Amino acid sequence: NPNAKIFFIGEGPGAEEDKQGRPFVGRSGQLLTKIMTETGLLREDVFIGNVVKCRPFGNEDPVPEAVEACFPYLERQIEIIKPKLLIALGRIAAKYLVNRDIKITKEHGKIEYYKDIPIMFLYHPSFLLRNRGGKREEEFREDLRKAMDFVGK
Ligand code: URA
Repeated sequence: NPNAKIFFIGEGPGAEEDKQGRPFVGRSGQLLTKIMTETGLLREDVFIGNVVKCRPFGNEDPVPEAVEACFPYLERQIEIIKPKLLIALGRIAAKYLVNRDIKITKEHGKIEYYKDIPIMFLYHPSFLLRNRGGKREEEFREDLRKAMDFVGK
Protein backbone atom coordinates (compact mmCIF):
# COMPACT_ATOMS: atom_id res chain seq x y z
CA ASN A 1 0.00 0.00 0.00
CA PRO A 2 1.73 3.22 -1.09
CA ASN A 3 -0.22 5.15 1.58
CA ALA A 4 0.80 2.80 4.38
CA LYS A 5 1.50 4.25 7.82
CA ILE A 6 3.48 1.18 8.78
CA PHE A 7 6.43 -0.11 6.73
CA PHE A 8 7.73 -3.57 7.69
CA ILE A 9 11.32 -4.41 6.86
CA GLY A 10 12.51 -8.00 6.65
CA GLU A 11 15.91 -9.42 5.93
CA GLY A 12 15.71 -10.77 2.41
CA PRO A 13 13.66 -13.05 0.17
CA GLY A 14 13.53 -16.78 0.78
CA ALA A 15 12.87 -19.38 -1.90
CA GLU A 16 9.14 -18.73 -2.18
CA GLU A 17 9.57 -14.93 -2.18
CA ASP A 18 12.21 -15.29 -4.88
CA LYS A 19 9.85 -17.39 -6.98
CA GLN A 20 6.88 -15.03 -6.62
CA GLY A 21 8.80 -11.76 -6.51
CA ARG A 22 6.86 -10.71 -3.41
CA PRO A 23 7.98 -10.32 0.21
CA PHE A 24 6.87 -12.62 3.01
CA VAL A 25 4.78 -15.10 1.06
CA GLY A 26 6.49 -18.28 2.30
CA ARG A 27 5.96 -20.02 5.64
CA SER A 28 7.14 -17.14 7.83
CA GLY A 29 5.14 -14.69 5.71
CA GLN A 30 2.00 -16.76 6.15
CA LEU A 31 2.50 -16.68 9.91
CA LEU A 32 3.10 -12.92 9.79
CA THR A 33 -0.09 -12.42 7.77
CA LYS A 34 -2.08 -14.61 10.18
CA ILE A 35 -0.90 -12.78 13.32
CA MET A 36 -1.33 -9.36 11.69
CA THR A 37 -4.86 -10.18 10.58
CA GLU A 38 -5.79 -11.51 14.02
CA THR A 39 -4.48 -8.28 15.53
CA GLY A 40 -6.55 -6.18 13.10
CA LEU A 41 -3.87 -5.19 10.62
CA LEU A 42 -4.32 -6.27 7.01
CA ARG A 43 -1.53 -6.73 4.49
CA GLU A 44 -3.34 -4.17 2.34
CA ASP A 45 -2.86 -1.63 5.17
CA VAL A 46 0.91 -1.87 5.22
CA PHE A 47 4.00 -1.83 3.03
CA ILE A 48 6.54 -4.63 3.28
CA GLY A 49 10.12 -4.51 2.05
CA ASN A 50 13.42 -6.19 2.70
CA VAL A 51 16.98 -5.06 3.40
CA VAL A 52 18.34 -7.21 0.58
CA LYS A 53 16.39 -7.67 -2.61
CA CYS A 54 18.01 -10.86 -3.88
CA ARG A 55 17.93 -14.24 -2.23
CA PRO A 56 21.15 -14.96 -0.32
CA PHE A 57 22.91 -18.19 -1.36
CA GLY A 58 21.96 -20.88 1.10
CA ASN A 59 20.37 -19.59 4.25
CA GLU A 60 23.15 -17.44 5.66
CA ASP A 61 22.87 -13.86 6.85
CA PRO A 62 23.15 -11.40 3.96
CA VAL A 63 26.77 -10.42 3.27
CA PRO A 64 27.71 -6.74 3.79
CA GLU A 65 28.29 -6.29 0.03
CA ALA A 66 24.69 -7.34 -0.68
CA VAL A 67 23.35 -4.99 1.97
CA GLU A 68 25.43 -2.15 0.58
CA ALA A 69 24.21 -2.81 -2.97
CA CYS A 70 20.53 -3.04 -1.98
CA PHE A 71 20.24 -0.43 0.75
CA PRO A 72 19.67 2.55 -1.60
CA TYR A 73 16.53 0.81 -2.93
CA LEU A 74 15.15 0.43 0.58
CA GLU A 75 16.02 4.06 1.38
CA ARG A 76 14.16 5.19 -1.71
CA GLN A 77 11.14 3.01 -0.84
CA ILE A 78 11.02 4.63 2.61
CA GLU A 79 11.29 8.14 1.06
CA ILE A 80 8.39 7.41 -1.29
CA ILE A 81 6.09 5.74 1.25
CA LYS A 82 6.87 8.20 4.07
CA PRO A 83 5.58 5.85 6.79
CA LYS A 84 4.79 7.02 10.31
CA LEU A 85 6.50 3.95 11.68
CA LEU A 86 9.08 1.46 10.46
CA ILE A 87 9.06 -2.04 11.89
CA ALA A 88 12.31 -3.99 11.66
CA LEU A 89 11.52 -7.69 11.65
CA GLY A 90 14.42 -9.41 13.36
CA ARG A 91 17.97 -8.62 14.32
CA ILE A 92 19.42 -8.25 10.83
CA ALA A 93 16.98 -5.59 9.61
CA ALA A 94 17.26 -3.76 12.94
CA LYS A 95 21.05 -3.80 12.81
CA TYR A 96 21.30 -2.23 9.38
CA LEU A 97 18.72 0.44 10.09
CA VAL A 98 20.12 1.72 13.36
CA ASN A 99 23.75 0.80 12.76
CA ARG A 100 24.32 -1.22 15.88
CA ASP A 101 23.84 -4.79 17.06
CA ILE A 102 20.41 -5.32 18.57
CA LYS A 103 19.55 -7.97 21.14
CA ILE A 104 16.04 -8.57 19.90
CA THR A 105 14.82 -10.58 22.91
CA LYS A 106 15.73 -7.59 25.10
CA GLU A 107 14.90 -4.73 22.74
CA HIS A 108 11.74 -5.87 20.94
CA GLY A 109 8.95 -3.30 21.21
CA LYS A 110 11.43 -0.46 21.67
CA ILE A 111 11.28 2.60 19.47
CA GLU A 112 14.36 4.33 18.09
CA TYR A 113 14.88 6.47 15.00
CA TYR A 114 16.02 5.84 11.46
CA LYS A 115 16.77 9.35 10.19
CA ASP A 116 13.67 11.14 11.56
CA ILE A 117 11.33 8.14 11.31
CA PRO A 118 10.46 6.09 14.40
CA ILE A 119 11.49 2.45 14.11
CA MET A 120 10.32 -0.40 16.32
CA PHE A 121 12.07 -3.77 16.62
CA LEU A 122 9.99 -6.93 16.45
CA TYR A 123 10.89 -10.61 16.30
CA HIS A 124 11.34 -12.09 12.86
CA PRO A 125 8.37 -14.36 12.05
CA SER A 126 10.73 -17.28 11.28
CA PHE A 127 11.84 -17.07 14.94
CA LEU A 128 8.15 -17.38 15.90
CA LEU A 129 7.79 -20.40 13.62
CA ARG A 130 10.35 -22.12 15.83
CA ASN A 131 8.48 -20.97 18.97
CA ARG A 132 4.85 -21.48 17.96
CA GLY A 133 2.16 -20.39 20.36
CA GLY A 134 4.54 -19.49 23.16
CA LYS A 135 5.65 -16.43 25.06
CA ARG A 136 7.53 -14.98 22.06
CA GLU A 137 4.43 -15.04 19.90
CA GLU A 138 2.46 -13.27 22.65
CA GLU A 139 5.19 -10.62 22.91
CA PHE A 140 5.04 -10.18 19.14
CA ARG A 141 1.27 -9.62 19.28
CA GLU A 142 1.72 -7.06 22.07
CA ASP A 143 4.40 -5.22 20.09
CA LEU A 144 2.15 -5.18 17.05
CA ARG A 145 -0.72 -3.69 19.07
CA LYS A 146 1.70 -1.08 20.42
CA ALA A 147 2.73 -0.25 16.83
CA MET A 148 -0.89 0.15 15.79
CA ASP A 149 -1.61 2.43 18.77
CA PHE A 150 1.45 4.44 17.84
CA VAL A 151 0.16 5.22 14.33
CA GLY A 152 -3.43 5.60 15.53
CA LYS A 153 -4.77 2.54 13.71
N1 URA B 1 12.08 -13.45 5.37
C1 URA B 1 12.43 -12.17 5.18
O1 URA B 1 13.21 -11.60 5.93
N2 URA B 1 11.90 -11.54 4.16
C2 URA B 1 11.03 -12.10 3.34
O2 URA B 1 10.56 -11.43 2.45
C3 URA B 1 10.66 -13.43 3.58
C4 URA B 1 11.20 -14.09 4.59
